[in-house]
Amino acid sequence: MPWAYTRRDGKGSVHFHVDARFGLTKFVDDWTIYHELAHMALPYLGPEYRWLSEGFASYMQYQIMAQAGVLKGDLAENYHKKITVHLRWFNSDLTAKSIATRLMDNKQYPAAYWGSAYFFVLADNKLQKQHQISLPQLISLYQDCCRALDHNVEEVFASLDGMIKGKLFAELLDEFKNRPARELYPEVFNQ
Ligand SMILES: [Zn+2]
Repeated sequence: MPWAYTRRDGKGSVHFHVDARFGLTKFVDDWTIYHELAHMALPYLGPEYRWLSEGFASYMQYQIMAQAGVLKGDLAENYHKKITVHLRWFNSDLTAKSIATRLMDNKQYPAAYWGSAYFFVLADNKLQKQHQISLPQLISLYQDCCRALDHNVEEVFASLDGMIKGKLFAELLDEFKNRPARELYPEVFNQ
């Protein structure tokens, strides 16, 4: 399995250390490369928002894999499979942010990552319905206008909202910070 890390030195860069015993097919099928590439699309969001950063990379890794033609099955079934099993953590009166933060702190990474990826499932749905653009399309445009200028989650979301002339990201983050998670997450994943 390849092992990857990202370095943030102003220029986005991704470094890979690949065990040469794995063939190329094995390498490009592996999700870690796509996960690390997805991280590079946003600046560091701040220490409080590791859950959101991992949720973003988890959501986007499958979008990138689908575009590269290496995703097995369709996007909806992949998200369904990953997210469904973690919904129970969010069937709670606590906020989604506090639940995701606790899951990260407890090193329950699949639950933290995929539970937080649901933020971007919601964002993508709203973008497509209300703004006729998908999250991957918006993130692609973001690279050219704003990626180098933003330094925290508030700035990133202000840029994304500015691009669509709306408040979608700021409002969704506010809901994840303040509303009971059970009001945002379904009991059953129904994409
Ligand atoms: Zn990650």
